[in-house]
Amino acid sequence: MRVAFIGLGVMGLPMARNLLRAGHTVIGFNRSREKIESLKSSGGLGAGSIREAVDGAEVVVTMLPDTPDVLAVHADDHGVLQSAAPKTLVIDMSTIRPDVTVDLHARATSAGLAFLDAPVSGGEQGAIDGSLSIMCGGSQEAFDAALPILEKVGTTIVRVGGPGSGQTVKAANQLLVAGTIQLVAEAMVFLDAHEVDLAPALAVLNGGLAGNAILTRKAKSMMDAEFSPGFRVDLHHKDLGIYREAARDQGVFSPLGAAVTELMAALRRTGGGSLDHSALLRQVDALSGRSRWSGR
Ligand code: NAD
Repeated sequence: MRVAFIGLGVMGLPMARNLLRAGHTVIGFNRSREKIESLKSSGGLGAGSIREAVDGAEVVVTMLPDTPDVLAVHADDHGVLQSAAPKTLVIDMSTIRPDVTVDLHARATSAGLAFLDAPVSGGEQGAIDGSLSIMCGGSQEAFDAALPILEKVGTTIVRVGGPGSGQTVKAANQLLVAGTIQLVAEAMVFLDAHEVDLAPALAVLNGGLAGNAILTRKAKSMMDAEFSPGFRVDLHHKDLGIYREAARDQGVFSPLGAAVTELMAALRRTGGGSLDHSALLRQVDALSGRSRWSGR
């Protein structure tokens, strides 16, 4: 298939490369040109505008930072909705607001396009390995049409409901991940304060009911105070904002969601925006008056 890929950042570039490896023709567009050159050096094509990228494409994939970026790329003059031929399948894999996504679905449908929201979990390594978890919202037909593309970038691919529901599930994912990191961080500082040897302590905890993916995948780098991203605090801050707004829309009581949103915001305000989200540990350490993690 001919696939237009817009947004060739940390996630988008390796995803586009996996589509190339699977034999698709990929024509990339990105705000900064050097990313387009990187795609070209992997065998892809480059476009000078959204219109040029979308021209003749059967599928358009977007992987952009935030809601305003997705709105601009899709809905502005000469954007995807205006430029794509009728029946084109448009897949937005960025993490954005579910309500805006519902609106984009409606606008795409009136333009004769098929639209799927398909945000991902799994991070940069998942994008490189083609092993992302993909949460899809939209019609069954759009989902079925997107599967041959999605299977080349992910391994767990689930249609969770109609328009916007992929984004709603992603918001819940971000609540769970942030909350779990914060609790793991508090447990680590607690154990360290009591001079317990962390590695065996976390190993036994991970074998019981307290076991979780943060302990499995991040305990080692957290113990080593290795906070280079990974998933940036800036992006997680954005995602918790999406969660909070969507929770408030439905009157959902979420005290821990509110707390972890504030904690992520505080870490960002105090200079941690470009660190990995596991740097919540650094903040717990500092606010406990300690320096094992925050002193470095
Ligand atoms: P990124 O900032 O690395 O990449 C986004 C790319 O989009 C950049 O190359 C930027 O130049 C380009 N871009 C922005 N506005 C544009 C526009 N108007 N036109 C063309 N190009 C434009 O971000 P990322 O880490 O790849 O994340 C992309 C999305 O995936 C975000 O919504 C993020 O929340 C989500 N996500 C990221 C991760 C992760 O680990 N990084 C994991 C899961 C989900």
